Amino acid sequence: MRADCLIIAIDGPAGSGKSTVAKAVAQRLGINYLDTGALYRAIALWLDKRGVPPEESERLKEELKKLRVKIKGGKVYVNGCDVTEAIRSSRVDAIVSAYSALPTVRECLFSIQRAQVNCRGLVADGRDMGTVVFPEAQIKVFLTASPEERARRRWLESSDKGRLSYEEVLKGIRERDALDSGRSLSPLRTAPDACVIDTTRLSVDEVVDRIIDLVKLLKQNNGGAYG
Ligand code: C5P
Repeated sequence: MRADCLIIAIDGPAGSGKSTVAKAVAQRLGINYLDTGALYRAIALWLDKRGVPPEESERLKEELKKLRVKIKGGKVYVNGCDVTEAIRSSRVDAIVSAYSALPTVRECLFSIQRAQVNCRGLVADGRDMGTVVFPEAQIKVFLTASPEERARRRWLESSDKGRLSYEEVLKGIRERDALDSGRSLSPLRTAPDACVIDTTRLSVDEVVDRIIDLVKLLKQNNGGAYG
């Protein structure tokens, strides 16, 4: 990886606005965007469908060896199947954190995530971008918002809105927060060098502008370069 490639790592809990903001930042800068949550969701969906429980086992290792997950043109594929919509179901919301806490699952995705960087740069969002996967990122952002606001956003965008109440979504968000922050491997944490942005009362454009300002500042301080 070239030292002057711009890497922007955006972490935060579910519903903090990471994906929307990260996608918009990547578009403004003309660089690639990586949604790492989609990779974890795709693996969880596949393993759940194959009846593999979320625990370390030989079966899990065998299934992961056979699994090919990729993101192309905004679509997510597992072993050639388009799972872009299926990974957003409430079933996947409920199971994904249990699978993503497993060391074998995280190990399997580590190099896939690192391989997404190219010389044009990358905006990556997830839970451990700034702390584990891209510790060398020049810009690290931690997005946060109150659980109630995050649940409201998730409920509004949910395809299961008819079936799930706001209270159920809030409960699910709180459970996922606890699992993602409480796990021993790559827990959701603010990197010490991250800029924390509370998005509760900010529009998407305001958050994107703040991150673009960080990029401008970085360039200014480095005489026009990123590294
Ligand atoms: O970002 P999103 O809500 O789609 O992520 C789904 C789940 O994937 C998270 O709740 C978390 O358990 C897992 N995840 C993770 N590490 C990442 C990205 C997502 O553990 N870098």
